[in-house]
Formats: sequence, structure tokens, C-alpha cells
Amino acid sequence: MTRIETTTAGSLPRTEALIAANAARTFAEDGFTLQSTPEFDALVAEATRDVVERQRAAGITQPGDGEFGKAMSNAVDYGAWWTYSFQRTSGLELTGKDIFSQEPVRSEPGNVRLTTFPDRRDWTAFAEAYQDPESGISVGKNATAFPATTGPITYTGQEAIAADTRNLAAALQPGERGFLTAIAPGSAARIENEFYGSEQEHIDAWAAALREEYRAVTDAGLILQLDDPSLAENWDQINPEPSVADYLAFTQIRIDAINQAIEGLPKEQIRLHLCWGSWHGPHTTDIELKHILKTVLGAKVGQISFEAANARHEHEWAVWEDQKDLIPDDLILVPGVVGHSTNLVEHPDLVAQRIERFAKIVGPERVIAATDCGLGGRVHPQIAWAKLEALGEGARRVRV
Ligand SMILES: [Zn+2]
Repeated sequence: MTRIETTTAGSLPRTEALIAANAARTFAEDGFTLQSTPEFDALVAEATRDVVERQRAAGITQPGDGEFGKAMSNAVDYGAWWTYSFQRTSGLELTGKDIFSQEPVRSEPGNVRLTTFPDRRDWTAFAEAYQDPESGISVGKNATAFPATTGPITYTGQEAIAADTRNLAAALQPGERGFLTAIAPGSAARIENEFYGSEQEHIDAWAAALREEYRAVTDAGLILQLDDPSLAENWDQINPEPSVADYLAFTQIRIDAINQAIEGLPKEQIRLHLCWGSWHGPHTTDIELKHILKTVLGAKVGQISFEAANARHEHEWAVWEDQKDLIPDDLILVPGVVGHSTNLVEHPDLVAQRIERFAKIVGPERVIAATDCGLGGRVHPQIAWAKLEALGEGARRVRV
């Protein structure tokens, strides 16, 4: 019987000490770049060691650093996977205009454009729920404000990514595979652009800059997880709803940017995280997997991580079966089998059943069981760790 490998989608609950230390950091003159001290850096290294050890104890065979190198200064924060990119790039500036505050944008057939976050179709269809602070829909508070692109984007995160790779490598045991997350170009380029002449140029600039981060991760022998919720969740950020054909053309540009940014890097060390957005909204306006799978599979990666354990997307395991012929023979599936969107802790038998569905499609050796999305900042730490234990136990119960 094959042992089922397990991993996560990245973010894990930060310790109270780490959250307090991030909250105590000061900003540089630009107002959004967080300053570090040797004491802070040592705390991150120590917390990374602990979080890897704790994942191992829970039965996670391919642990990550929990995204501890990505600042979270509040216990509830859905954006650390994105805001970290502002810390590692030049050409950005706070202008007071961002995806939350700018004017809504209307799309037309043949001219698909992203609107603001508050003008997302899920947010407008359920406006009362989104505006009620006690509804349970929250995106928390980010560690930094959102800047705009006002100059040439270049990568400046050399020291930060070196610390991330060093901290994770030091926490791994010989032969253990670990992974780090990094934002994909299409998702990074959703900040306001006031410099580049076109959206394509803006995305290409992010791709060229982020390539340096990607290469640092694969050069360190680690798995690189590219976080690209933009591939699926942009659909909901286009108002009114576009045609599927227009959306796929719009999305192809983001796939091409990924392929451009990872060209020549070892494919077997690259995982793409596909995601419909981790906030706990109704998600009734999410695009269905069946429409985007073929386009997404155009990314030249070795693994694909995706949500398969929540009430809106779990049934789509059948799409993988229906469209099995599209799945490259060397692609590893990394389905979410425990969720970020509910406090209920999945029963290990359900976890095993979810894994078995995919194992029957591609074989157990090509399945790595994971979380739907990052648990850190989305569910309470106590619940998050219980979910990881359920994941480890469920993987041990798989019978294929
Ligand atoms: Zn996600």
C-alpha cells in the first residue's frame, strides 16, 4: 500500500509572540515597508523550527514554513500571502488609491477588466452579510497598506528570501521535502498600476521581478508553491459577469506569465495553488472548475493544489475524473481535504474518502493530501492544528 504524502496550502497560525513582534515593527519612510531587527529575525527562525516540528508531529510529510516570513500582525489576516510582496519589490508607493477604495470598473464583452474588491459580485449580491461585522465574513486586518505601482518594478527581497529558505532548510530533517509559497505574477499585478502602459506590461514586470524569488526557492532544493488565486477568483471581480471565452483569454495571459517566470526552473519542484479566495463568503459567483481546468493545466508545473474540501467546490472532484485526459501524466494532484472555511474539524474517515477519490483517478503516488487554503489567519489556531491532525490521521486511513 502506498503511503499518502501530506502537506498544507502554506499559511499556518502565527504564534502570539510572532504576531506581537510583527505588530511592534516600524515602517520605513515609504509608510509600508516593515523594518527588521536581529532579534526579530531570530524569533522568526525559532518559530519556523517549531512550526515544522509541529507539522511533522501532526503527520504532515511535506511541511512548509507556515509563511512565518510573511508578516502577520493580527490574529485574523487573510492577506499576508499577498502583502509580503510589497516588502520585496521596488517601484511601489502609497497613493491612497487601492483595490478597496478606487472607483468600481465596468467590463464589456471583449474588454474584461477587474473592478474593486467591494464591487465583487459576491460582495454586492450579499451586501448586507458582507457589511455586517458579526456575519462571520471577515478578511481581517493586513500588516501593511496596499501601495500602487508608480515606478519600475524590480526584486529587492534577496535577503528576505534567503532568510526564508535558510530557516526552512534548517528545520527540515535529512531527506524531508519542504515548501515555500510565493505570489504568482497575475495575482501580484492586481495592485493599482499608475506606471506601466498596459496591464500586460504590468504583469510582465512582476513576472520578471518575482522570477528571482522563485529561483532562490528552487535553487535551495525546496518546493516552490505559486499562489495564484487570480486565476479563479478574478471571475468574481469582473462586473458584470463576462463570457467564459473572454475570461479564458484574460486568464491565459496570467498562465503565460507564470510560464515565463518559471522557464528553465525544475518543474518537479513547482506547485501551483489554485484558489477561489479564502474569505468566508457565500462564493455563489465562483467560476466552476470545469470551465477553467484546461486553461489552468497549461501552467508548466509539477503539482497543482486546489480547493476540494469545501461546500462550494468539493463536488468538483468529479471534474478531474471527467476531464482525466487533460491531466498530464507527470502532474501531481494536491487536493484540499481539510478546509479553511469552517470551524468543523473533518472526520479522518472523510479525509480518507476525499483522498481516495483522487487516488482512484491518478494513482495514490500522484496525490499529496493538503488543506484547501492557508489556515493561518482564517481559523483559530487550536482548530487549525486539530485539522492538521485530522489530515495526518485521514491519510494513514487511506485504503487504495
Ligand atoms: Zn488559497
